[in-house]
Amino acid sequence: MQHQVLIVGGGLAGLTNAIKLAQSGLNVGLIEKNEYPFHRVCGEYISNETLPFLRSLGFDPFQYGAVAIKRFWLTSPKGSELNMDLDMGGFGLSRYVLDEALYRLALAKGVSFYLKTNVLNIIKEEENFICYTDGKGELNAKLVISAHGKRSNLDKERAFFQQRSPYIGVKYHIKTDFPNDLIALHNFKDGYCGISRVEDDKYCLCYLTTRENLKQYKTIEAMQEQILKQNRFLKDILENATFCYDAPKVINEISFSPKTLIDNDILMCGDSAGMITPLCGNGMAMAIHSSKILSNLIIQYFDNQINKNDLHKNYRLHWNKYFRFRLAIGRTVQHFFGSPVLTELLVRFFKHNHFLAKQLVRQTHGEIF
Ligand SMILES: Cc1cc2nc3c(=O)[nH]c(=O)nc-3n(C[C@H](O)[C@H](O)[C@H](O)COP(=O)(O)OP(=O)(O)OC[C@H]3O[C@@H](n4cnc5c(N)ncnc54)[C@H](O)[C@@H]3O)c2cc1C
Repeated sequence: MQHQVLIVGGGLAGLTNAIKLAQSGLNVGLIEKNEYPFHRVCGEYISNETLPFLRSLGFDPFQYGAVAIKRFWLTSPKGSELNMDLDMGGFGLSRYVLDEALYRLALAKGVSFYLKTNVLNIIKEEENFICYTDGKGELNAKLVISAHGKRSNLDKERAFFQQRSPYIGVKYHIKTDFPNDLIALHNFKDGYCGISRVEDDKYCLCYLTTRENLKQYKTIEAMQEQILKQNRFLKDILENATFCYDAPKVINEISFSPKTLIDNDILMCGDSAGMITPLCGNGMAMAIHSSKILSNLIIQYFDNQINKNDLHKNYRLHWNKYFRFRLAIGRTVQHFFGSPVLTELLVRFFKHNHFLAKQLVRQTHGEIF
């Protein structure tokens, strides 16, 4: 099957690229190894900077039960607190609902979906790309966007894949007594946990910690008992919430290392191009923003306004302009994360320096796009 553009991976980067490209009349195929709807490990707080672009695609999160989030609460393991308003703010919506809604929108715009299909390899032959799949055979396209997320079988030859990453992510949906418009970031030894509202009176509770932390206590439950509950706010939530599923969703090997943006002429987008630490940035907003940049350039390419070299050059230029610095800051700050002493000092410092705290939070959100 021949498409103008094939997209590998149907997360936010893949889906928003697909909708934008199909909206402009291109023949787009999207290959996703799962089937919608499905849960993902993600904090599910999305920066408001995405709203104009999402609405231009025909998607308004508030029609799907999204909840506006305007306040931020930071705590240290010892219980120091910082409360502040969020200038940009965001909204909470589960990936279960968000990705499914974008998938339905993409279908309606004419995108061809290949679901429950794993891409095994992507080869470039002259001016054509061939995606080898485990079920749908070979799929062909003039351009390929690989939006396959933080870590995939397609990364095996990429440099970052060779280094083991120490981070794991754990996510629950819970019902609890907690303000609708607040996002909390509770720190604990070697980790941090976000809590914020999503649709249907549910809250997303999602934390990042190290494999070593888990190894020491052997099970998630024991680690939560011994480590997370040392933060009294987390203890209160973990002991009094109703958990919506039998078990949490867990992922490992979360890498924040630099990645290549274009590999063998394959255009990386979203986390496959670089992932920001949840502590310092809004990865979903970056995935959606990078897809806006890339899809606009691809539209110009098929419109014969720019050639392939310009497409690559401009994508690099814009990507570096908007994301390179943010990713580098994120990697640096992540090195300091998890130290109870340092977190205590930081929370106390920012409590008395609200202006600086606001500047820091501003860095985690981008500009409206
Ligand atoms: C613990 C944690 C908390 C986070 N919290 C937040 C938050 O609160 N706010 C925020 O903005 N960001 C958050 N992020 C970051 C955010 O989740 C990501 O930046 C975002 O999901 C990136 O979207 P994506 O489309 O690039 O990748 P993904 O959403 O991961 O999508 C990639 C898709 O590719 C598919 N795929 C992979 N390989 C193949 C293959 N070979 N063939 C076919 N399909 C394939 C996968 O199944 C997947 O559906 C968090 C991340 C972590 C780890």
